[in-house]
Amino acid sequence: YLPPRATVIRDGRRQAIEARGVVRGDLLVVEEGARVCADARLLEGAVDIDLSTLTGESMPAFRSADSLDSSVPLIHARDLVFSGTTCIEGGARAVVFATGMHTELGRIAALSERVEQEESPLEHQVRRVAWLIALIAVVTGIAFIPIATLGAGLSLSNGVVFAVGLLVGNVPEGLLPVITLALAAGVRGLVREGAVVKRLSAVETLGSTTVICTDKTGTLTENRMRVTTLWTPGGACRLPAPDAAEAGDEHAGSGPELGALATAISACNNAEMTDGGGPTGDPTEAAMLLAARALGADVSAERRRRRRRRQFHFDPVLKLMSTVDERDGILWVHAKGAPEALLPRCEEVASGSDQERLSDAGRDQIGRTVGEYAAQGLRVLGVARRRLERDAPPPERREEAERDLCFLGLVAMIDPPRAEVAGAVARCHTAGIRIILVTGDHGLTAAAVAQQVGIAAEDPTVVTGEQLAAMSEHELDGLLREGQELIFARTSPEAKLRIADALRAEAHVVAMTGDGVNDAPALRRADIGIAMGRSGTDVAREASTMVLTDDNFATIVAAVQAGRRVYDNIRKFIFYIFAHTTPEVTPFLVFALSGGAIPLPLTVLQLLAFDIGTETLPALALGREPAEPGLMRRPPRTRSEGVISPSLLLRAWLFLGVICATLQMTGFFYVLLKAGWQPGDRTGAGAPLHEAYRQATTMTLLGMIAGQIGTAFAARTERASLRSVGVFSNPLLLWGIAFELVLAAMLIYLPPFQSLFSTAALGADELLLVLPFPFIVWGADELRRYLLRRRRAPKEATQRAWA
Ligand code: ATP
Repeated sequence: YLPPRATVIRDGRRQAIEARGVVRGDLLVVEEGARVCADARLLEGAVDIDLSTLTGESMPAFRSADSLDSSVPLIHARDLVFSGTTCIEGGARAVVFATGMHTELGRIAALSERVEQEESPLEHQVRRVAWLIALIAVVTGIAFIPIATLGAGLSLSNGVVFAVGLLVGNVPEGLLPVITLALAAGVRGLVREGAVVKRLSAVETLGSTTVICTDKTGTLTENRMRVTTLWTPGGACRLPAPDAAEAGDEHAGSGPELGALATAISACNNAEMTDGGGPTGDPTEAAMLLAARALGADVSAERRRRRRRRQFHFDPVLKLMSTVDERDGILWVHAKGAPEALLPRCEEVASGSDQERLSDAGRDQIGRTVGEYAAQGLRVLGVARRRLERDAPPPERREEAERDLCFLGLVAMIDPPRAEVAGAVARCHTAGIRIILVTGDHGLTAAAVAQQVGIAAEDPTVVTGEQLAAMSEHELDGLLREGQELIFARTSPEAKLRIADALRAEAHVVAMTGDGVNDAPALRRADIGIAMGRSGTDVAREASTMVLTDDNFATIVAAVQAGRRVYDNIRKFIFYIFAHTTPEVTPFLVFALSGGAIPLPLTVLQLLAFDIGTETLPALALGREPAEPGLMRRPPRTRSEGVISPSLLLRAWLFLGVICATLQMTGFFYVLLKAGWQPGDRTGAGAPLHEAYRQATTMTLLGMIAGQIGTAFAARTERASLRSVGVFSNPLLLWGIAFELVLAAMLIYLPPFQSLFSTAALGADELLLVLPFPFIVWGADELRRYLLRRRRAPKEATQRAWA
């Protein structure tokens, strides 16, 4: 953003120096077309400056050496220019007061640099899981050495080899790739839904969202405004369609008051008519321009530009915009904005082609009319003007321009709620997620829209920006804690930061939307900052964690759902990994505890073949499971809830793990006993039972694989029946299992593998024995889940009845 060179006055001489040589106190020459390389205070001259790098505002701002004001934030001070901005028009000299990282641009850069990647709850828990698994692996490995050497009489070197095998067998090599791939697949899926997530782990944070703070315009509504009514003190004029002015109650679309209103709307506007006939620009202004055209006003952008002498941009804090325009040699201030902001600046009101003092009764009447329109969910803007003294220069300060105005009328416009929002709101409510509306619009408009989309019931609590400012932190905490439907209206961007802070202090996981530059701090502070891709500024997008490419509230809910699904899938995978611990350890325990009387039911290489060869693919597939039914019907999980719960371990180790281990050991003993083996018989190389022993270990391996297939199906759901998600709905898993079976066949029947893994071909009766294993494992878990659902159902029905 910075120019390589700058022009300064040093020693009374004008000279071009390298921009990095500019220091505080330098006298900077700001010229048309030049980029500014430092923050500086204007000493003489005036410039129009493009501040978009800092504010995102596309229209240039006027800055002048004569416009001193210290009461506004630095960025709005009208005698300052900033590093990284461009001078569009005019020329000035300015004294540098900040350079490099001390400038506003530097501050933003530093802010971005400083953002520490806080460990997400998932990252934290995965770290814990890794430690736990490492502990289990090491302890079982080490414990095996004395048991094997002292108890079973193995040599120390053999004992160590077995211990290492056991240790490796317990290490889930797939953990990292599966979690990463599950998150990445979640991120990719979200892009298709209209959300770009910038950090992988954010997907999972989304899943634990407890509060969504959303704005209204464009997120809940379509941001396609259409003026429905123009109101002047003389009466109302309805515009049923964008282009056709239809006779209203009292006006016929003409009259001096309406004419003045239309002229002011057209002048104080930056939207433009395109060649195709439609308007472009800010939707509010575009709608107003169409209304002005319908009333016969001149809407030529070219002539408007020629007439315009000054512009005070729309300020989201003041909620006002004004312009100074010259018509037939007379200067006019035209202003529009929120009626509550505009009315205090009005002294008079238009009356026919004349104007009169604005009485208290007149103000009340306007206020009532605003209330009536707003209560219908309409967005209402006031419009006013002032004729300036002949020969007076255009006012340079906003306060000078926006005072003693003559109120012209109101413009009410409809912005229909997005069709899909009501459904998304309902899903949030069943998912236990609270929605708080934080908007710059009028409280009644916000309440009406909130009711239309189902965020609020009859009488929501509306807190205005002023009321919020008067609240202490304690009061705000109390208000948020009460848990009722809340609407924050006429808020400033700073209010969002306070609300995010207060909610986070209450241990909520907060998703917050925003589009303006001033929203950036709140977007950073929220757990999930959500910026608008279409209407938002770059600064907001930079500060956010997620960008909505369609600006749609429903997409946030889809993202939350995706987050929950990804988290669930990670749990499924971890469960699947843990379920292998018991079957992997059991053969070694049987061998050791029998003091060697039972030969080792599984060799170390067979264990590794199972662990590395057959485990990972189905695990990867579990990371891609579709959502379980009821995913959005349960409350958000708490921040402290671990990815591993005691019930998960119980189900993995003591339930499925024990069933699998029992089945595989049944297979092992079946083969041995069939061959006439008795405890203590020799099975080593050369012994008559050696071939039978090789077959028996092969049976253990095949039994383990079969159990693993059953576990993979069982792991697919935590509570629901497999039928409800579809037995064949995860094709990746089916491919993974097919691969596993092919690999198992190769291990058992191909001679090179047989000699490497000490396996032997199995007969038909052995294969028949193993065939039902997956169904037994899966069926047992299906039964467990069924009983669980039946036990919980009455409890939930009672809870619902109470709710
Ligand atoms: P949200 O924050 O939910 O998106 P919003 O779009 O109404 O709501 P802002 O854009 O900050 O929030 O607008 C706040 C108020 O400022 C509006 O209700 C309106 O009264 C006024 N306003 C909006 N746009 C303009 C504009 N271009 N010119 C003048 N006033 C405007």
